[in-house]
Amino acid sequence: MFKVNEDYLKLPGSYLFSTIGKKVAAFAEANPDKRIIRLGIGDVTQPLAPAIIDALHSAVDEMAHAETFHGYAPDLGYEFLRKAMAENDYQDRGCDIRADEIFVSDGAKGDSGNIQEIFARDNKIAVCDPVYPVYVDTNVMAGRTGTYDQTAETWSDVIYMPCTKETGFVPELPKETPDIIYLCFPNNPTGSAITKDRLQEWVDYANKVGAVIIYDAAYEAYISEENVPHSIYECQGARTCAIELRSFSKNAGFTGVRLGATVIPKEIKQGEVTLHSLWARRHGTKYNGAPYIVQKAGEAVYSEAGKAQLKAQVAYYMKNARVIYEGLKEAGYHVSGGVNAPYIWLETPKGMTSWEFFDHLLERAHVVGTPGSGFGPSGEGYFRLTAFGSYENTVAAIERIKAL
Ligand SMILES: *Cc1c(COP(=O)(O)O)cnc(C)c1O
Repeated sequence: MFKVNEDYLKLPGSYLFSTIGKKVAAFAEANPDKRIIRLGIGDVTQPLAPAIIDALHSAVDEMAHAETFHGYAPDLGYEFLRKAMAENDYQDRGCDIRADEIFVSDGAKGDSGNIQEIFARDNKIAVCDPVYPVYVDTNVMAGRTGTYDQTAETWSDVIYMPCTKETGFVPELPKETPDIIYLCFPNNPTGSAITKDRLQEWVDYANKVGAVIIYDAAYEAYISEENVPHSIYECQGARTCAIELRSFSKNAGFTGVRLGATVIPKEIKQGEVTLHSLWARRHGTKYNGAPYIVQKAGEAVYSEAGKAQLKAQVAYYMKNARVIYEGLKEAGYHVSGGVNAPYIWLETPKGMTSWEFFDHLLERAHVVGTPGSGFGPSGEGYFRLTAFGSYENTVAAIERIKAL
């Protein structure tokens, strides 16, 4: 008789977005005349750029002829895409990453969840708090996180690294030594960035204690400041300790198309065994990778036209970010983020909890955001607004908040 994986039963369940959905639906029903503006979405809204649409169309046409038809993609992904990434994302930035160290996938979310499978069960993970929920949830499902404390909302075997106003929203090196360290910069949900010097400290630390860093660079395209690294491989020594996750979702609008990559330098080893060789055996090889059509669309991201169009798209969202940041600051809020990321993180006013502020904003301004406490205990007292809406809605929402 089959038995279920009991580690799945330990998942506390994400009430965050379902609770938001219920509250918004109830408000809308009771107030049919009020126009609700959503600044809580973590998804892009702009259409795919013309260069990407063109690439998709011509790849579809190729599939119609025996001579240009493509079946299963190669294990690592098509070389044309891995080469474009190696050159543009890495070598042009002075990072020593080669095309055969890039594994193309159907997105960073799946990879960020599956990567833990190449590590032993008794590895100890460290995460930022607040954090993108996937890292912890997948380790819970793998039985790696111990027991859950309902009150503290923490796992006994996870090292939490608070990212608050006091730490500048960047974690400090942990007191207890982890084996696997998850870092995401620019960060979701706080919108904070890490300087190259600070990131170098993490790389040095990981090499010293023999830990591996899983670095989520999904928001790399939003970086506007000089001293903020676009890749962890800009740091010395990262080739022996860091895995990097890349996504085409937030920079190029592929959230529905699906494309990402995981970079594993061949130098990360335990004895003779490389993590690169283990990830080459991952399930999903060939079958769940990205289709030819999508990889061709990904290649177009690196064309001259693609680069220019996507730069404009990122600029569009970052204009929204500036509207939110400046507007809230003018209204007297304490805000951070929004400079190197499409997320603005604000302190809830007047000692309100994150959820109290959510209700306040919904009822008084009819604006929907995301309570910071939903991303971890250190998110309590904070609130996330996103720049992914339309410019018109963003301006209108901020006018309403300013009028409160
Ligand atoms: C949106 C996001 C991703 C991207 O995931 P995809 O599966 O590539 O769409 C990865 N990491 C973080 C932190 C994100 O917010």
